[in-house]
Amino acid sequence: MHDSQAQHWLARSRAAVWHPCTQMKRHETLPIIPIARADGIWLEDFDGKRYIDGVSSWWVNLFGHNQPRIKQALKDQLDTLEHVILAGFTHQPVVELSERLAALTGLGHAFYGSDGASATEIALKMSFHYWRNHGQTQKTRFLSLEHSYHGETVGALAVTDVPLFSDTYAPLLQHNLRAPSPDARLAAPRETAADVARRAASALESLLQQHGHEIAAFIIEPLVQGAAGMVMYDPLYLAEARRLCDQYRVHLIADEIAVGFGRTGTLFACEQAAIRADFLCLSKGITGGYLPLSCVLTTDDIYAAFYDDDVSRGFLHSHSYTGNALACRAALTVLDIFEDEQVIAANLATAALFSRHLAEIAAHPAVRHFRQRGMIWAFDVDCQRADFGPAFFSLMLQQGCLVRPIGKTVYFMPPYIIEESHMRQLVDATLMALTQLLAGDRPSSRPETALP
Ligand SMILES: *Cc1c(COP(=O)(O)O)cnc(C)c1O
Repeated sequence: MHDSQAQHWLARSRAAVWHPCTQMKRHETLPIIPIARADGIWLEDFDGKRYIDGVSSWWVNLFGHNQPRIKQALKDQLDTLEHVILAGFTHQPVVELSERLAALTGLGHAFYGSDGASATEIALKMSFHYWRNHGQTQKTRFLSLEHSYHGETVGALAVTDVPLFSDTYAPLLQHNLRAPSPDARLAAPRETAADVARRAASALESLLQQHGHEIAAFIIEPLVQGAAGMVMYDPLYLAEARRLCDQYRVHLIADEIAVGFGRTGTLFACEQAAIRADFLCLSKGITGGYLPLSCVLTTDDIYAAFYDDDVSRGFLHSHSYTGNALACRAALTVLDIFEDEQVIAANLATAALFSRHLAEIAAHPAVRHFRQRGMIWAFDVDCQRADFGPAFFSLMLQQGCLVRPIGKTVYFMPPYIIEESHMRQLVDATLMALTQLLAGDRPSSRPETALP
Protein backbone atom coordinates (compact mmCIF):
# COMPACT_ATOMS: atom_id res chain seq x y z
CA MET A 1 0.00 0.00 0.00
CA HIS A 2 2.90 2.36 0.76
CA ASP A 3 6.04 2.97 -1.20
CA SER A 4 9.34 3.55 0.58
CA GLN A 5 8.69 7.31 0.99
CA ALA A 6 5.50 6.62 2.88
CA GLN A 7 7.12 3.88 4.99
CA HIS A 8 9.92 6.26 5.76
CA TRP A 9 7.67 9.04 7.13
CA LEU A 10 5.46 6.56 8.89
CA ALA A 11 8.37 5.07 10.84
CA ARG A 12 9.80 8.48 11.73
CA SER A 13 6.38 9.77 12.81
CA ARG A 14 5.80 6.76 15.05
CA ALA A 15 9.16 7.27 16.71
CA ALA A 16 9.09 11.03 17.18
CA VAL A 17 5.47 12.22 17.07
CA TRP A 18 3.10 11.39 19.89
CA HIS A 19 -0.21 11.43 18.01
CA PRO A 20 -3.40 12.86 19.60
CA CYS A 21 -6.37 10.79 20.71
CA THR A 22 -4.35 7.64 19.99
CA GLN A 23 -3.10 4.52 21.72
CA MET A 24 0.26 4.56 19.93
CA LYS A 25 0.70 0.79 20.24
CA ARG A 26 -2.26 0.37 17.86
CA HIS A 27 -0.03 1.75 15.13
CA GLU A 28 1.97 -1.47 15.19
CA THR A 29 -0.82 -2.78 12.96
CA LEU A 30 -2.85 0.27 11.91
CA PRO A 31 -0.94 2.46 9.45
CA ILE A 32 -0.35 6.17 9.92
CA ILE A 33 -0.95 7.87 6.58
CA PRO A 34 1.69 10.44 5.68
CA ILE A 35 0.00 13.20 3.70
CA ALA A 36 2.15 14.91 1.12
CA ARG A 37 -0.31 17.57 -0.09
CA ALA A 38 -3.98 18.50 -0.11
CA ASP A 39 -6.33 20.34 -2.43
CA GLY A 40 -10.06 20.94 -2.15
CA ILE A 41 -11.71 17.92 -0.56
CA TRP A 42 -8.69 15.72 -1.36
CA LEU A 43 -5.80 14.59 0.80
CA GLU A 44 -2.97 12.98 -1.14
CA ASP A 45 -0.32 10.61 0.19
CA PHE A 46 3.22 10.04 -1.10
CA ASP A 47 2.03 7.40 -3.60
CA GLY A 48 -0.40 9.81 -5.17
CA LYS A 49 -3.30 7.92 -3.55
CA ARG A 50 -6.09 10.34 -2.74
CA TYR A 51 -8.58 10.40 0.13
CA ILE A 52 -11.81 12.35 0.44
CA ASP A 53 -11.57 14.34 3.67
CA GLY A 54 -15.00 13.30 4.96
CA VAL A 55 -14.45 14.83 8.41
CA SER A 56 -12.98 18.18 7.32
CA SER A 57 -9.75 17.19 9.11
CA TRP A 58 -11.37 17.04 12.56
CA TRP A 59 -14.11 19.52 11.66
CA VAL A 60 -11.89 22.53 10.86
CA ASN A 61 -11.47 22.70 7.07
CA LEU A 62 -14.77 24.37 6.18
CA PHE A 63 -13.93 25.12 2.56
CA GLY A 64 -11.47 22.31 1.93
CA HIS A 65 -7.72 22.50 1.52
CA ASN A 66 -5.62 24.93 -0.47
CA GLN A 67 -8.45 27.48 -0.40
CA PRO A 68 -7.35 30.22 -2.81
CA ARG A 69 -8.86 33.22 -1.00
CA ILE A 70 -7.58 32.30 2.47
CA LYS A 71 -4.19 31.47 1.02
CA GLN A 72 -3.91 34.82 -0.74
CA ALA A 73 -5.13 36.78 2.28
CA LEU A 74 -2.48 35.11 4.45
CA LYS A 75 0.24 35.91 1.92
CA ASP A 76 -0.83 39.56 1.97
CA GLN A 77 -1.00 39.63 5.75
CA LEU A 78 2.51 38.13 5.94
CA ASP A 79 3.85 41.16 4.10
CA THR A 80 2.30 43.53 6.67
CA LEU A 81 2.16 42.09 10.18
CA GLU A 82 2.46 38.49 11.31
CA HIS A 83 2.00 38.99 15.06
CA VAL A 84 2.15 41.55 17.83
CA ILE A 85 1.64 41.28 21.59
CA LEU A 86 -2.06 42.03 22.26
CA ALA A 87 -1.53 43.45 25.77
CA GLY A 88 -1.21 47.19 25.31
CA PHE A 89 -1.18 46.88 21.50
CA THR A 90 -3.76 46.21 18.84
CA HIS A 91 -3.99 45.75 15.08
CA GLN A 92 -6.43 45.96 12.19
CA PRO A 93 -7.33 42.26 11.77
CA VAL A 94 -8.19 41.73 15.47
CA VAL A 95 -10.30 44.90 15.62
CA GLU A 96 -12.18 44.09 12.42
CA LEU A 97 -12.74 40.48 13.40
CA SER A 98 -14.09 41.46 16.83
CA GLU A 99 -16.44 44.03 15.28
CA ARG A 100 -17.73 41.62 12.67
CA LEU A 101 -18.30 38.81 15.15
CA ALA A 102 -20.09 41.28 17.43
CA ALA A 103 -22.37 42.35 14.58
CA LEU A 104 -23.13 38.71 13.73
CA THR A 105 -23.83 37.53 17.29
CA GLY A 106 -24.91 40.56 19.30
CA LEU A 107 -22.05 39.85 21.71
CA GLY A 108 -19.82 42.91 21.71
CA HIS A 109 -16.65 41.84 23.54
CA ALA A 110 -14.21 39.32 22.09
CA PHE A 111 -11.49 37.55 24.09
CA TYR A 112 -9.07 35.37 22.12
CA GLY A 113 -7.32 32.06 22.72
CA SER A 114 -5.54 29.59 20.48
CA ASP A 115 -7.71 26.49 20.58
CA GLY A 116 -11.11 25.22 21.62
CA ALA A 117 -10.15 23.97 25.06
CA SER A 118 -8.69 27.35 25.99
CA ALA A 119 -11.95 29.02 24.87
CA THR A 120 -13.79 26.73 27.30
CA GLU A 121 -11.34 27.63 30.06
CA ILE A 122 -11.79 31.33 29.36
CA ALA A 123 -15.59 31.11 29.48
CA LEU A 124 -15.57 29.08 32.73
CA LYS A 125 -13.10 31.41 34.43
CA MET A 126 -14.91 34.55 33.25
CA SER A 127 -18.24 33.23 34.49
CA PHE A 128 -16.86 32.34 37.93
CA HIS A 129 -15.01 35.66 38.15
CA TYR A 130 -18.13 37.63 37.13
CA TRP A 131 -20.11 36.20 40.06
CA ARG A 132 -17.18 36.75 42.42
CA ASN A 133 -16.89 40.38 41.33
CA HIS A 134 -20.59 40.63 42.20
CA GLY A 135 -19.97 39.18 45.65
CA GLN A 136 -21.54 35.80 44.75
CA THR A 137 -18.60 33.69 45.91
CA GLN A 138 -20.74 30.58 46.42
CA LYS A 139 -21.13 30.10 42.65
CA THR A 140 -18.17 27.77 42.14
CA ARG A 141 -19.59 24.84 40.14
CA PHE A 142 -20.53 24.21 36.54
CA LEU A 143 -23.30 22.26 34.91
CA SER A 144 -22.96 20.41 31.60
CA LEU A 145 -24.91 17.78 29.69
CA GLU A 146 -24.38 14.05 29.92
CA HIS A 147 -22.03 12.98 27.09
CA SER A 148 -20.80 16.56 26.72
CA TYR A 149 -17.42 17.39 25.20
CA HIS A 150 -15.78 20.76 25.80
CA GLY A 151 -12.07 20.00 25.40
CA GLU A 152 -9.40 18.17 27.35
CA THR A 153 -7.41 20.62 29.44
CA VAL A 154 -8.04 20.06 33.16
CA GLY A 155 -10.77 22.68 33.53
CA ALA A 156 -12.50 21.75 30.27
CA LEU A 157 -12.26 18.04 31.06
CA ALA A 158 -14.21 18.70 34.26
CA VAL A 159 -17.23 19.73 32.15
CA THR A 160 -16.62 16.92 29.62
CA ASP A 161 -18.57 13.70 30.14
CA VAL A 162 -16.69 11.17 28.04
CA PRO A 163 -15.43 8.59 30.56
CA LEU A 164 -12.71 7.31 28.24
CA PHE A 165 -11.14 10.79 28.29
CA SER A 166 -11.93 11.89 31.84
CA ASP A 167 -11.99 8.86 34.17
CA THR A 168 -8.22 8.53 34.33
CA TYR A 169 -7.87 12.12 35.51
CA ALA A 170 -10.84 12.09 37.88
CA PRO A 171 -8.72 12.93 40.97
CA LEU A 172 -7.57 16.13 39.22
CA LEU A 173 -11.02 17.26 38.11
CA GLN A 174 -13.47 19.57 39.81
CA HIS A 175 -16.66 17.78 40.78
CA ASN A 176 -19.32 19.31 38.54
CA LEU A 177 -22.95 18.56 37.77
CA ARG A 178 -24.53 16.83 34.75
CA ALA A 179 -27.98 17.26 33.28
CA PRO A 180 -29.65 14.55 31.14
CA SER A 181 -29.00 14.87 27.41
CA PRO A 182 -31.99 15.84 25.22
CA ASP A 183 -30.74 13.22 22.70
CA ALA A 184 -33.58 12.78 20.17
CA ARG A 185 -32.82 9.06 19.94
CA LEU A 186 -34.38 8.66 23.39
CA ALA A 187 -37.85 9.30 21.99
CA ALA A 188 -40.31 6.57 22.90
CA PRO A 189 -42.70 5.32 20.18
CA ARG A 190 -45.00 8.16 19.13
CA GLU A 191 -42.81 10.70 20.96
CA THR A 192 -41.13 13.54 19.07
CA ALA A 193 -37.68 15.06 19.56
CA ALA A 194 -39.46 18.05 21.11
CA ASP A 195 -41.03 15.74 23.72
CA VAL A 196 -37.57 14.47 24.67
CA ALA A 197 -36.33 18.07 24.83
CA ARG A 198 -39.20 19.04 27.16
CA ARG A 199 -38.47 16.09 29.44
CA ALA A 200 -34.75 16.93 29.56
CA ALA A 201 -35.60 20.59 30.23
CA SER A 202 -37.72 19.65 33.21
CA ALA A 203 -34.82 17.59 34.61
CA LEU A 204 -32.63 20.64 34.02
CA GLU A 205 -35.08 22.76 35.97
CA SER A 206 -34.96 20.39 38.95
CA LEU A 207 -31.16 20.57 38.97
CA LEU A 208 -31.20 24.35 38.80
CA GLN A 209 -33.83 24.57 41.53
CA GLN A 210 -31.65 22.49 43.79
CA HIS A 211 -28.18 23.75 42.85
CA GLY A 212 -28.67 27.09 41.04
CA HIS A 213 -27.21 29.02 43.99
CA GLU A 214 -23.84 27.22 43.64
CA ILE A 215 -23.71 27.03 39.83
CA ALA A 216 -21.85 29.72 37.87
CA ALA A 217 -22.71 28.50 34.38
CA PHE A 218 -24.40 25.84 32.27
CA ILE A 219 -22.17 24.95 29.31
CA ILE A 220 -23.74 23.30 26.29
CA GLU A 221 -23.00 22.26 22.70
CA PRO A 222 -25.95 23.79 20.81
CA LEU A 223 -28.03 21.33 18.72
CA VAL A 224 -25.35 18.68 18.21
CA GLN A 225 -23.18 16.95 20.84
CA GLY A 226 -20.32 16.23 18.47
CA ALA A 227 -17.79 14.01 20.23
CA ALA A 228 -20.62 12.03 21.88
CA GLY A 229 -21.32 10.68 18.38
CA MET A 230 -23.24 13.51 16.69
CA VAL A 231 -26.08 13.39 19.19
CA MET A 232 -28.78 15.71 17.84
CA TYR A 233 -31.61 17.38 19.69
CA ASP A 234 -34.52 19.75 19.24
CA PRO A 235 -33.82 23.54 19.35
CA LEU A 236 -36.64 23.79 21.89
CA TYR A 237 -34.16 22.56 24.52
CA LEU A 238 -31.90 25.55 23.89
CA ALA A 239 -34.79 27.96 24.27
CA GLU A 240 -35.76 26.26 27.54
CA ALA A 241 -32.15 26.28 28.76
CA ARG A 242 -31.96 30.03 28.09
CA ARG A 243 -35.20 30.67 29.98
CA LEU A 244 -34.17 28.52 32.96
CA CYS A 245 -30.65 29.99 33.17
CA ASP A 246 -32.22 33.47 33.36
CA GLN A 247 -34.71 32.33 35.96
CA TYR A 248 -32.09 30.73 38.21
CA ARG A 249 -29.36 33.33 37.56
CA VAL A 250 -26.89 30.97 35.92
CA HIS A 251 -24.80 31.90 32.86
CA LEU A 252 -25.38 30.05 29.61
CA ILE A 253 -22.18 29.18 27.75
CA ALA A 254 -22.77 28.12 24.14
CA ASP A 255 -19.84 25.99 22.99
CA GLU A 256 -20.12 26.42 19.21
CA ILE A 257 -16.53 25.32 18.67
CA ALA A 258 -17.74 22.45 16.48
CA VAL A 259 -21.18 23.63 15.35
CA GLY A 260 -20.40 27.29 14.60
CA PHE A 261 -19.74 28.71 11.13
CA GLY A 262 -22.58 27.13 9.25
CA ARG A 263 -22.21 23.52 10.32
CA THR A 264 -25.80 23.13 11.54
CA GLY A 265 -27.39 25.08 8.68
CA THR A 266 -27.27 28.57 10.22
CA LEU A 267 -24.13 30.62 10.79
CA PHE A 268 -24.43 29.84 14.50
CA ALA A 269 -26.56 27.04 15.95
CA CYS A 270 -28.09 29.29 18.65
CA GLU A 271 -29.91 31.18 15.88
CA GLN A 272 -32.21 28.18 15.43
CA ALA A 273 -33.59 28.68 18.92
CA ALA A 274 -33.47 32.48 18.62
CA ILE A 275 -31.38 32.74 21.76
CA ARG A 276 -28.27 34.64 22.73
CA ALA A 277 -25.84 33.00 25.14
CA ASP A 278 -23.90 34.89 27.80
CA PHE A 279 -20.71 33.41 26.40
CA LEU A 280 -20.18 32.08 22.88
CA CYS A 281 -17.09 29.89 22.32
CA LEU A 282 -15.77 29.65 18.76
CA SER A 283 -12.80 27.84 17.24
CA LYS A 284 -12.28 24.93 14.78
CA GLY A 285 -13.79 26.31 11.54
CA ILE A 286 -13.07 29.94 12.45
CA THR A 287 -9.92 30.08 10.29
CA GLY A 288 -11.10 27.51 7.75
CA GLY A 289 -8.46 25.09 9.06
CA TYR A 290 -5.52 27.38 8.39
CA LEU A 291 -4.34 28.50 11.82
CA PRO A 292 -5.22 27.81 15.44
CA LEU A 293 -7.54 30.46 16.86
CA SER A 294 -10.38 30.59 19.34
CA CYS A 295 -12.61 33.31 20.60
CA VAL A 296 -15.02 33.85 23.48
CA LEU A 297 -17.67 36.49 22.84
CA THR A 298 -19.62 38.00 25.67
CA THR A 299 -22.07 40.71 26.72
CA ASP A 300 -21.74 44.32 27.88
CA ASP A 301 -23.01 43.29 31.31
CA ILE A 302 -20.28 40.71 31.81
CA TYR A 303 -17.59 43.01 30.44
CA ALA A 304 -18.73 45.77 32.80
CA ALA A 305 -18.33 43.53 35.87
CA PHE A 306 -14.56 43.45 35.28
CA TYR A 307 -14.11 47.15 34.43
CA ASP A 308 -12.62 48.69 37.56
CA ASP A 309 -9.72 50.58 39.13
CA ASP A 310 -8.76 47.36 40.90
CA VAL A 311 -6.43 45.30 38.69
CA SER A 312 -7.44 41.99 40.25
CA ARG A 313 -11.10 42.55 39.31
CA GLY A 314 -9.94 42.51 35.68
CA PHE A 315 -9.69 39.33 33.60
CA LEU A 316 -5.93 38.77 33.71
CA HIS A 317 -5.99 35.55 31.67
CA SER A 318 -3.65 35.47 28.67
CA HIS A 319 -2.15 33.29 25.95
CA SER A 320 1.04 34.21 24.10
CA TYR A 321 -0.59 34.04 20.68
CA THR A 322 -3.77 35.88 21.71
CA GLY A 323 -5.27 37.62 18.69
CA ASN A 324 -2.54 36.49 16.30
CA ALA A 325 -2.76 38.70 13.23
CA LEU A 326 -2.40 35.91 10.67
CA ALA A 327 -5.09 33.82 12.35
CA CYS A 328 -7.44 36.83 12.56
CA ARG A 329 -6.84 37.56 8.86
CA ALA A 330 -7.76 33.97 8.00
CA ALA A 331 -10.93 34.29 10.10
CA LEU A 332 -11.89 37.55 8.38
CA THR A 333 -11.49 35.83 5.02
CA VAL A 334 -13.71 32.97 6.21
CA LEU A 335 -16.41 35.56 7.01
CA ASP A 336 -15.86 37.19 3.60
CA ILE A 337 -16.41 33.84 1.91
CA PHE A 338 -19.64 33.26 3.88
CA GLU A 339 -20.93 36.64 2.71
CA ASP A 340 -19.68 36.82 -0.86
CA GLU A 341 -20.48 33.23 -1.78
CA GLN A 342 -23.73 33.01 0.22
CA VAL A 343 -22.48 29.84 1.81
CA ILE A 344 -25.47 29.26 4.11
CA ALA A 345 -27.89 29.27 1.18
CA ALA A 346 -25.57 27.19 -1.00
CA ASN A 347 -25.18 24.62 1.77
CA LEU A 348 -28.95 24.08 1.82
CA ALA A 349 -28.79 22.74 -1.72
CA THR A 350 -25.61 20.78 -1.04
CA ALA A 351 -27.17 19.19 2.05
CA ALA A 352 -30.34 18.24 0.18
CA LEU A 353 -28.29 16.57 -2.55
CA PHE A 354 -26.12 14.60 -0.14
CA SER A 355 -29.20 13.55 1.84
CA ARG A 356 -30.73 12.17 -1.38
CA HIS A 357 -27.62 10.06 -2.01
CA LEU A 358 -27.55 8.95 1.62
CA ALA A 359 -31.17 7.76 1.50
CA GLU A 360 -29.80 4.38 0.41
CA ILE A 361 -27.81 4.18 3.62
CA ALA A 362 -30.69 5.46 5.76
CA ALA A 363 -32.76 2.54 4.41
CA HIS A 364 -30.06 -0.06 5.10
CA PRO A 365 -31.34 -2.80 7.47
CA ALA A 366 -28.39 -2.41 9.89
CA VAL A 367 -28.65 1.38 10.09
CA ARG A 368 -30.35 2.96 13.12
CA HIS A 369 -31.24 6.58 13.89
CA PHE A 370 -30.11 8.09 10.61
CA ARG A 371 -29.95 11.83 11.36
CA GLN A 372 -28.93 15.08 9.75
CA ARG A 373 -28.65 18.73 10.69
CA GLY A 374 -27.18 21.19 8.23
CA MET A 375 -23.89 19.78 7.02
CA ILE A 376 -23.67 16.95 9.58
CA TRP A 377 -24.95 13.43 8.87
CA ALA A 378 -24.76 10.49 11.26
CA PHE A 379 -26.17 7.03 11.86
CA ASP A 380 -25.63 4.15 14.25
CA VAL A 381 -24.77 0.68 12.97
CA ASP A 382 -26.33 -2.42 14.48
CA CYS A 383 -23.23 -4.60 14.31
CA GLN A 384 -21.90 -7.08 16.85
CA ARG A 385 -18.25 -6.50 16.10
CA ALA A 386 -16.57 -4.70 18.98
CA ASP A 387 -13.87 -3.49 16.56
CA PHE A 388 -16.46 -1.93 14.24
CA GLY A 389 -14.90 1.57 14.40
CA PRO A 390 -11.32 0.74 13.41
CA ALA A 391 -12.49 -1.91 10.92
CA PHE A 392 -14.87 0.52 9.20
CA PHE A 393 -12.21 3.22 9.19
CA SER A 394 -9.74 0.87 7.45
CA LEU A 395 -12.23 -0.30 4.84
CA MET A 396 -13.10 3.33 4.04
CA LEU A 397 -9.43 4.28 3.73
CA GLN A 398 -8.89 1.45 1.25
CA GLN A 399 -11.64 3.05 -0.85
CA GLY A 400 -10.10 6.51 -0.67
CA CYS A 401 -12.29 7.98 2.07
CA LEU A 402 -11.33 9.45 5.44
CA VAL A 403 -14.26 8.77 7.76
CA ARG A 404 -13.64 8.12 11.48
CA PRO A 405 -16.58 6.50 13.26
CA ILE A 406 -17.17 7.25 16.95
CA GLY A 407 -17.86 3.82 18.42
CA LYS A 408 -20.65 2.42 16.24
CA THR A 409 -21.73 5.83 15.00
CA VAL A 410 -20.64 6.74 11.49
CA TYR A 411 -20.74 10.42 10.62
CA PHE A 412 -19.95 12.69 7.69
CA MET A 413 -18.85 16.26 8.27
CA PRO A 414 -17.46 17.16 4.84
CA PRO A 415 -16.05 20.49 3.68
CA TYR A 416 -18.83 22.68 2.25
CA ILE A 417 -17.31 22.42 -1.22
CA ILE A 418 -18.25 18.73 -1.49
CA GLU A 419 -19.46 17.79 -5.00
CA GLU A 420 -21.84 15.10 -6.19
CA SER A 421 -19.05 12.75 -7.34
CA HIS A 422 -17.49 12.90 -3.84
CA MET A 423 -20.89 12.21 -2.27
CA ARG A 424 -21.32 9.17 -4.49
CA GLN A 425 -17.88 7.86 -3.61
CA LEU A 426 -18.59 8.25 0.11
CA VAL A 427 -21.96 6.50 -0.18
CA ASP A 428 -20.66 3.62 -2.31
CA ALA A 429 -17.67 3.11 -0.04
CA THR A 430 -19.92 3.13 3.03
CA LEU A 431 -22.31 0.57 1.54
CA MET A 432 -19.38 -1.66 0.61
CA ALA A 433 -17.85 -1.36 4.10
CA LEU A 434 -21.18 -2.14 5.77
CA THR A 435 -21.68 -5.20 3.57
CA GLN A 436 -18.23 -6.53 4.38
CA LEU A 437 -18.46 -5.88 8.12
CA LEU A 438 -21.96 -7.27 8.50
CA ALA A 439 -21.10 -10.39 6.49
CA GLY A 440 -18.42 -11.20 9.03
CA ASP A 441 -20.65 -10.09 11.89
CA ARG A 442 -19.67 -11.95 15.03
CA PRO A 443 -18.82 -10.75 18.51
CA SER A 444 -15.13 -10.01 18.79
CA SER A 445 -13.11 -9.96 21.98
CA ARG A 446 -11.33 -6.68 21.32
CA PRO A 447 -12.66 -3.93 23.60
CA GLU A 448 -14.60 -1.22 21.88
CA THR A 449 -13.26 2.31 22.00
CA ALA A 450 -15.01 5.44 20.90
CA LEU A 451 -12.50 7.98 19.68
CA PRO A 452 -13.84 10.92 17.66
C1 LIG B 1 -13.13 20.19 19.50
C2 LIG B 1 -14.01 20.75 20.55
C3 LIG B 1 -13.49 21.42 21.67
C4 LIG B 1 -12.00 21.53 21.94
O1 LIG B 1 -11.32 22.20 20.93
P1 LIG B 1 -9.74 21.94 20.76
O2 LIG B 1 -9.32 22.93 19.76
O3 LIG B 1 -9.62 20.52 20.30
O4 LIG B 1 -9.12 22.14 22.10
C5 LIG B 1 -14.37 21.95 22.57
N1 LIG B 1 -15.70 21.84 22.40
C6 LIG B 1 -16.23 21.21 21.35
C7 LIG B 1 -17.71 21.15 21.21
C8 LIG B 1 -15.41 20.63 20.41
O5 LIG B 1 -15.95 19.94 19.38
